[in-house]
Amino acid sequence: MTDFTSQTDASGVCTITWDVPGKSMNVMSMAGFADLDALIDAALADPAVKGIVLTSAKKDFAGGMDLNVIARMKEEGGADPAKAVFDGVMGMHAVLRKIERAGMDPKTLKGGKPIVAALPGTALGIGLELPLACHRIIAADNPKAKIGLPEILVGIFPGGGGTTRLARKLGAMMAAPLLLEGKLNDPRGAKAMGVVDEVVPPEDLLDRAKAWVLAAKDADLVKPWDQKGYKMPGGAPYHPAGFMTFVGASAMVLGKTMGVYPAAKALLSAVYEGALVPFDTALKIEARWFTHVLMNPSSSAMIRSLFINKEALEKGAVRPALPDQSVKTLGVLGAGMMGAGIAHVAASAGIKVVLIDAGQEAADRGKAHAEALLDKAMKRGKITAETRAEVLARITPTTDYAALAGADLIVEAVFEDPAVKADVTRRAEAATPADCIFATNTSTLPISGLAKASQRPEQFIGIHFFSPVDKMMLVEIIRGQQTGDRAVAKALDFVRQIRKTPIVVNDARFFYANRCIIPYINEGIRMVAEGVAPALIENAAKLVGMPLGPLQLVDETSIELGVKIAKATKAAMGEAYPDAAVDAVIFRLADQGRLGKKANAGFYAYDEAGKRLGLWPGLDGFWPVLDPQPALPEVQHRLLFAQVLEAVRALEQGVLTDIREGDVGAILGWGFAPWSGGPFSWLDMIGAPRAVEICDGLAARHGARFAVPQLLRDMAAAGDSFYGRFAPRSRAA
Ligand code: NAD
Repeated sequence: MTDFTSQTDASGVCTITWDVPGKSMNVMSMAGFADLDALIDAALADPAVKGIVLTSAKKDFAGGMDLNVIARMKEEGGADPAKAVFDGVMGMHAVLRKIERAGMDPKTLKGGKPIVAALPGTALGIGLELPLACHRIIAADNPKAKIGLPEILVGIFPGGGGTTRLARKLGAMMAAPLLLEGKLNDPRGAKAMGVVDEVVPPEDLLDRAKAWVLAAKDADLVKPWDQKGYKMPGGAPYHPAGFMTFVGASAMVLGKTMGVYPAAKALLSAVYEGALVPFDTALKIEARWFTHVLMNPSSSAMIRSLFINKEALEKGAVRPALPDQSVKTLGVLGAGMMGAGIAHVAASAGIKVVLIDAGQEAADRGKAHAEALLDKAMKRGKITAETRAEVLARITPTTDYAALAGADLIVEAVFEDPAVKADVTRRAEAATPADCIFATNTSTLPISGLAKASQRPEQFIGIHFFSPVDKMMLVEIIRGQQTGDRAVAKALDFVRQIRKTPIVVNDARFFYANRCIIPYINEGIRMVAEGVAPALIENAAKLVGMPLGPLQLVDETSIELGVKIAKATKAAMGEAYPDAAVDAVIFRLADQGRLGKKANAGFYAYDEAGKRLGLWPGLDGFWPVLDPQPALPEVQHRLLFAQVLEAVRALEQGVLTDIREGDVGAILGWGFAPWSGGPFSWLDMIGAPRAVEICDGLAARHGARFAVPQLLRDMAAAGDSFYGRFAPRSRAA
């Protein structure tokens, strides 16, 4: 079985069909490329073939390159991995360039065979780079299809000619959002942008493609960039308009990436430098920059965490081997912010939901929240009125526990109060079938403690969502001491149904994500108390790739909540409570009514409409900024190691059992510097000995919270890396 097959009809049109065996979506592999190359050679050489239609037998065209192949190219490159990557990429360019020239005479540019890409659906990455090398792209009018080049989102850039071809087809300005942000379009949007040439009804796709092949003239096959006098749309770099574009784009890239994502800058360099030279040289430049990015440890780490391991977790890499536990009817207890959000995502995934609150009005409000989100999605054209109605019909808001009779999973999201939670646990268990799994969405209360209210503790588990539920992609599943495997499998199957990414952790205070994010916030607040300039703290965080500075983050999650958590933690820990310095700051702000964004006042100032204006100038009156200020790396190390050491402790203590979950969870859960691939990937990048050296210094200057965990010290002594020592070997990925 090969990935591509071909068939020539009586009219002389050879249809090459992409259909990777055993997969629902085509992905490109090296073997696939070789198949395609051979079929193109054969069709170009066959006098009976007048032209070629390249299409797919699946509902979509292709999802992209198999990123495992890209990762392997480097690993298997032997003594000179950069050369291996460069040669591999140039090999692909040669095939795509052959398609583009299609046998035409290099001087007269005549006599080539027309090649059309006919896209039935989604075409991403190499799945669009290949069509871009063809002479025409015709897409089926399929509103669900996504067309684009999303490579930048996993830390690389389109390196199969897509960067060079798209910039030349559209101009740097128009291509910028597609290349630099990985923006995807449906076929009509792609046509409006000039990415595809034609959109036709799905049933006409192949006929139209064949008709174009048979009617094409020599001139139709010559790409603008192969014609004499080609000028880049919008101007090349030394044209006044082009100059403006590139100056603006450089500033935008730096502003958005803070200089920590090598791929965005390399992409821009490839476009800029490529625009100054002939097309074939531009491809070589693109390949060199692509190699440069692949050789950067950041790209490998991002591919590993954001693609390979994320997908492995979603496909159940850590799922107990039990029969399918898909949820049919979900009971949600508590229709507040979280409960309503959970009801919305579950109903959207086709699950029936019984949404219970103490009063009918509150339950109805929860459903209204789902309705508002669906209305928004409909206005944006993401769902139809019919889908909206179907989703809403699945949600039954009620106060009556008897309605839970058919539920196979309960998620509890009532007030964060053990007594209230115990009460609803008992009531729900009395109303549900004996095999129903009960989950709590608590963010701070230990699962094993809450399980005491349950008659079936092996069916009791934590399923911890993040707010806002519809946007946050991570779900933390927490095993209590007595939680059984079926509960874990049920939780994982539920998360798969709602298309989020799960991690499974053991029960400990704040589980994993909150355990790491709280020290980050606290370290920022401590520095305010010490007289470090708040702007230095916030910018230091952003310059290491954190999406939000710690002070903005606490404003967004609310200073009031911080105060509540601090009080509860202090009560639970007693004398051992380590964060009095932090409390002094947030309690003082809270006393002033500065409760965070929702109060329009916090570490930042806000206007009446809630728009963030800048750091609140009054901070200086409370905590004067000292002179001299610490150096930037010192502030950055404090902010990073506050999180990273907590992740290492979570691993050391067995809260985390899989470093893949630690890395993926950190990026999706709290936005830990995605360029790094996560805390463990970052530690591997700098090496355990360097990490120990930095932390020993931090501990000496700032205290025991930076004390090096024994595990890390042992690893430094042994010369171990986390992925070397802990990478799961028995499981996929
Ligand atoms: P919320 O106050 O918005 O909602 C709680 C809801 O529970 C309210 O509608 C309330 O009427 C209802 N409720 C209270 N007692 C009840 C009872 N006995 N029976 C039925 N309903 C009852 O709170 P929230 O922010 O949605 O948080 C809910 C849970 O989710 C808490 O355990 C919280 O720790 C957790 N959580 C919150 C967040 C967050 O960011 N807010 C994130 C993750 C987890």
